[in-house]
Amino acid sequence: MKKINQQEPKVILYYKFIPVCDPNITMRWQKELCDRLGLKGRIIISPHGINGTLGGGIENLREYKREMNRSILFKGIMYKWSDGSGEDFPKLSVKVRDELVAFRASDELVVSERGVENGGIHLKPEQVHRLIQERGDEVIFFDGRNAYEAQVGRFKDAIIPEVKTTPDFLKELEDPKYDTIKNRPIITYCTGGIRCEILSVLMKNRGFKEVYQIDGGIVKYGEKYGDDGFWEGNLYIFDGRMNHKFSSKAKDIGECVHCGQNTSRFINCADKSCNQLKLVCQSCNAKTFCENHQPVLA
Ligand SMILES: [Zn+2]
Ligand SMILES: [Zn+2]
Repeated sequence: MKKINQQEPKVILYYKFIPVCDPNITMRWQKELCDRLGLKGRIIISPHGINGTLGGGIENLREYKREMNRSILFKGIMYKWSDGSGEDFPKLSVKVRDELVAFRASDELVVSERGVENGGIHLKPEQVHRLIQERGDEVIFFDGRNAYEAQVGRFKDAIIPEVKTTPDFLKELEDPKYDTIKNRPIITYCTGGIRCEILSVLMKNRGFKEVYQIDGGIVKYGEKYGDDGFWEGNLYIFDGRMNHKFSSKAKDIGECVHCGQNTSRFINCADKSCNQLKLVCQSCNAKTFCENHQPVLA
């Protein structure tokens, strides 16, 4: 096997919902496997499955995939590949958590060998287009991410729920403002698809009748249609890479908090204890505070 630094750097993103009887054993196995292959990034294991984002050399990531496919639990996962820089993740973190995504709704989620039970219907990107062809304006896109991510990119005319953090969805979905759309076809979307697996269950449990989710999320949709479909803007990505444009045609739809100019450039609140993100364009490039923090006046 070639040394890590002689390989092309790549990033993989994946998840699988499957009952995991002993998450701690899985955690130790994953740690060993990633250490052996020099992979960095983040893996979460819960009684409901696994969710990972890993960066490393392409050959080592392929070996990781082969090892996963040898395991009864984690075979057959769809991996989303993207280009890495080799420095996307500073370290490896493998953790056991109650939930793969912290909706604080683990009691509502039923996971079997088939995956999540009673979730939204999975649509491939081309099926998204077919549904819109058939049902037209009736169809609504519903953003399953935190609201700030939608500032720089979203599906056309999507509903952007008012959520700052993931557990906010529970309360948000019970808001009567959604009563009028509960009978309409709703396509939920998120970065890689994992959040919608859960969100679609929560929505159905709260009276939304016809819920769909995009298989592989925005990432897979963007690979297929780029900026020539219903997606608009940039895809915000959590790890150091921040923004992704599917093509050179990608628009900047966010607005700089200082001058209002279109931008997709997030910077952290200048208060060191805070991780809120604010849109600040390249030309303003100023120290910026969020609503909760103010500059200390000398
Ligand atoms: Zn500006
Ligand atoms: Zn702040």
